[in-house]
Amino acid sequence: MDDESTPGAFKTTDPSTLAPGKSYPGHSAAQAAAKVTRAAEAQRGWRRTGFDERARLMRAAGGVLRRRRDEFAALMTSEMGKTVTDGRAEIDKCASACEHFAEHAATYLARQDVDLGGPRAFVTFNPLGVVLAVMPWNFPFWQVFRFAAPGLMAGNGAVLKHASNVPGCALAIESVFGEAGFPAGLFATVLIRSGDVKALIEDAHIAAVTLTGSVAAGRSVATVAGSQLKKCVLELGGSDAYLVLEDADVVGAAKVCAAARMVNAGQSCIAGKRFIVVRPLREAFEQALVEAMRAYRIGDPRDPDTRLGPLQSVEARDQIHEQVQRSVAKGAKLLLGGAIPDQPGAWYPATVLGNVRPGQPAHDDEVFGPVAAVIEAADEENAIAIANASEFGLGSGVLTRDLARGERIAADALDAGMSFVNDNVRSDPRMPFGGVKHSGYGRECGDFGIREFVNVKSVLVKA
Ligand code: NAP
Repeated sequence: MDDESTPGAFKTTDPSTLAPGKSYPGHSAAQAAAKVTRAAEAQRGWRRTGFDERARLMRAAGGVLRRRRDEFAALMTSEMGKTVTDGRAEIDKCASACEHFAEHAATYLARQDVDLGGPRAFVTFNPLGVVLAVMPWNFPFWQVFRFAAPGLMAGNGAVLKHASNVPGCALAIESVFGEAGFPAGLFATVLIRSGDVKALIEDAHIAAVTLTGSVAAGRSVATVAGSQLKKCVLELGGSDAYLVLEDADVVGAAKVCAAARMVNAGQSCIAGKRFIVVRPLREAFEQALVEAMRAYRIGDPRDPDTRLGPLQSVEARDQIHEQVQRSVAKGAKLLLGGAIPDQPGAWYPATVLGNVRPGQPAHDDEVFGPVAAVIEAADEENAIAIANASEFGLGSGVLTRDLARGERIAADALDAGMSFVNDNVRSDPRMPFGGVKHSGYGRECGDFGIREFVNVKSVLVKA
């Protein structure tokens, strides 16, 4: 970043109409660095506060979120196309994360005694300093709060570099912490481009980095963080597999799979992307899945009844359509959707592909939109092998009436950070969230999440 540079503006576009939205001036290198320095100054006082004081403010942040819920949901709709219904639910979830960490941080980070049979010994969980968060647009509030609520409760400061298409959300989140009464500058938003992240990671006031986003961005940020020997947590992509076994309730399984696929119009790291069905059930499942997916009709994201709004951008939509077309060219069968609607906006219909095989993008790559891929497996063992033959390992699911069988497969057989039986994977402030392989490393949420950005310190006191 060049201190003398004139930062460009961050312009937004409504994905449902392609109408230009607001424009926000970006921060220069010097302005961004000043915000980092201020966060570090604020954190020095903040780390000395007790959990009660932190919890009081975190609960106040939850209150601000609930009070401004409709405003924030509308902001997400205008910047990245989320339906207002999903947006309101997302804000409520952020508020509940604030409340959860307000209530439980002291327990999660309580000193742990260690019995050495002699001198007193214990472990403390002390804050690291200021954490830089590089975040994506798909859950503009939730991705930030699930990092910030535990992070601030642990006594850290935070600097947010949000995705370039959601600058209004990024500034709104900063305002939540300001309005709740947190020390000025402790949580700071910087409006900078991805090329300017390196300089911030290298800033001596940044102690650690967390990134949620693509594999490419994760690789780049981890490389810089590694060169600086700074702790890094990565939440990256996924190609979540759901196994539909021969004893599954077909219609129920199809509904779970459709819900898993269609979360946030399919633009979720933990959306179900590959539905691996054992041969005897394949045809019946495809029919049931088509029916379940058909229920997600495209509509105005501002209508509370709409279940499928626009995608985040026309570029993203075109990439998805290209993945569908290439899959069909390589033998996939189009069972539903697959055509771009003739109307302005980033629209793409609910789409189902059958006969999905290796070599097709729908099989090999992450498809970040409303496209379900059905893959046939010979049996349970083959289904597990197909599920695990992915570069990703984020979420996964098993659909079966035999709960012991489902539990065994979910707990032991699937290479993923999360495995749910007869339900679609979702994040929860109480459960650790994260992946293996190219889906990243480290965890968010729960006690594991809050301990990612602390100094786990051993203390010994000899009499
Ligand atoms: P992306 O391009 O990687 O963007 C994510 C964030 O990283 C944005 O703030 C972006 O800034 C920044 N960024 C991009 N390239 C960077 C670089 N080289 N150095 C530093 N920062 C960089 O991700 P996306 O395409 O918007 O989001 C979709 C991806 O995120 C999917 O793969 C999805 O699975 C994954 N995701 C994962 C999770 C999870 O929890 N595991 C959750 C949500 C999404 P700009 O916007 O300015 O480019």
